[in-house]
Amino acid sequence: MKKAIYPGSFDPVTFGHLDIIKRSTKIFDEIVVAVLNNSQKNSLFSVDERVTMITELVKDYPNVSVVSFEGLTVDFAKKIDANIIIRGLRAVTDFEYELQIAQVNHVENTDLETVFLTTSLNYSYLSSSVVREFASHGGDITKFVPKEIIPRIMEKYK
Ligand code: ADP
Repeated sequence: MKKAIYPGSFDPVTFGHLDIIKRSTKIFDEIVVAVLNNSQKNSLFSVDERVTMITELVKDYPNVSVVSFEGLTVDFAKKIDANIIIRGLRAVTDFEYELQIAQVNHVENTDLETVFLTTSLNYSYLSSSVVREFASHGGDITKFVPKEIIPRIMEKYK
């Protein structure tokens, strides 16, 4: 059984994240999308709101579940018995940071492997912060996030 965890802030989830999830379903038996509850980060959506939105959007994938977690990804992965971490790589700018985190995690737990999926070209520019920036100025975000969650994002900037 290949059980993988896909951790992140997902504030909010974008087409880039959903693309990584969809492609992961073909590689791994079970995927747990793990939404980080980071009290130090000033997030737009509460962790429960983020979990709810992703859960709705992945409902057609039987092997994907969505949960929240606090603390270190390595600890949470161990707790739920996942030995693969999925991360998305957009540009070289992601690489240095991601490599460091992956190596630290491997030192912490040698059974844990990080697998990187490169972003689809059409989403390589896309990040949650781009979505927040556009939405905050009333910009068009239909190319960035599914239409189901657009009203919830716009509501935050009313
Ligand atoms: P974090 O705060 O942990 O970076 P994010 O929610 O920003 O959380 O991202 C979670 C994961 O999704 C990261 O591995 C990130 O590189 C990846 N990711 C974000 N946006 C995209 C995208 N457009 N295409 C592919 N992967 C992405």
